[in-house]
Amino acid sequence: MNRSVRPRDDEAIPGARVVVIDDDYAMRLSCRQILAKSGYVVEVFEDGAKGLEAVLAQRPDLVVVDLKMPGISGMDVIDRVHAIDPDMVVVVITGYPTIGSAVDAIKAGAYDFLPKPFTPDELRLVVGRALGRRRLLLESHRLELERELLKRRFVTFVSHQLKSPLTAIRQYMDVLIRLEGTPEAETQRAEWLERSRRRCDLMVRLIEDWLTLSRAECSELVRRREPLDLREALTEIVLACEDVAEKQEVTLDLALPERELVVAGDEGCVGVLFSNLVENAIAYNRPGGKVSVAARVERGEVCVSVTDTGRGIPEECRGLIFDEFFRVKEEGEPTPAGTGLGLPISRRIATEMGGRIDVESEVGVGSTFTVRLPLIPSEGADQEMHESQGALA
Ligand code: ADP
Repeated sequence: MNRSVRPRDDEAIPGARVVVIDDDYAMRLSCRQILAKSGYVVEVFEDGAKGLEAVLAQRPDLVVVDLKMPGISGMDVIDRVHAIDPDMVVVVITGYPTIGSAVDAIKAGAYDFLPKPFTPDELRLVVGRALGRRRLLLESHRLELERELLKRRFVTFVSHQLKSPLTAIRQYMDVLIRLEGTPEAETQRAEWLERSRRRCDLMVRLIEDWLTLSRAECSELVRRREPLDLREALTEIVLACEDVAEKQEVTLDLALPERELVVAGDEGCVGVLFSNLVENAIAYNRPGGKVSVAARVERGEVCVSVTDTGRGIPEECRGLIFDEFFRVKEEGEPTPAGTGLGLPISRRIATEMGGRIDVESEVGVGSTFTVRLPLIPSEGADQEMHESQGALA
């Protein structure tokens, strides 16, 4: 498996470009040698003007600058470097008598300082740390850009998702207006009205899911943290899904323990979390299939599993189904109406409640979604909890 290894936070950028500005020839020479040996691309300059010219042209990752130089001072260099690129990292070299100005340099935006004389190891350490900082800054910019791009894609996608049903409804209306009053036309009218109604329902669902997700971007979805017995919530959800299950010729089964399953949450959110899972288990099932909802307590957590005997989820898609708008497309299989937003919303709710959702699946056999949420020990269940912990220890 090709697994990329994430560098540690203090790890530098291999092959990073470093500009050293120092009026002392020996210092320039040794900095160049030491840093080049570490694999960096180093350029050295004897004054601020030349160094800044190179910074502007080459946009290095790091600038190492002597504070005390004739001409443009090290402090000015810090300012001008940050005017060119606020994320460029600057390290200042100071003589002992100028240690006070090193503090000023940090205040002015330098990342670190290196008092003279320093050993090659000290130089490598400070430069490595500074480049680690640079890497983090670049990474956070990349994530910001990605988020921006995702937002734009989100708007384009939702607009498209709304446009196609609206165009279809508009076409049905055009025909309905011109339809004659014959009995055949009446049958046709009823069918097209029903189709329009289904498309409207889908649009409303999409808008609701979209609003839920954008609410989640601004703040938390789970606003209230009230003790809730999941047994009641699950019973209600399963009851509410019975009609749809019957239409799809799927049997629904619920297994609950005697003990209370208290979690801290918001009734509405808990309903959305589990309804999404149960509705999917029905929708992606087959006629004659089964959906089993079972709850239990395991190591201080409430585990609810929703198992179906449906089409299953291909392995390569399992990591993607919790992404916004992702839907598995299978040739030959009808795709039930959906928005691709249900699972991201469910995962978001579970995470906000301090829990998680896992999925196991086998194509052609079925899937199990397991939700784990922290259990709030209730009075009646305390004794049982101690017993089960005792048993574990
Ligand atoms: P939606 O169901 O509206 O498309 P979801 O976010 O709930 O959106 O699910 C994303 C996708 O994951 C679905 O389109 C479907 O391809 C797949 N999926 C979810 N649940 C199941 C399931 N129980 N069995 C098979 N595939 C599923």
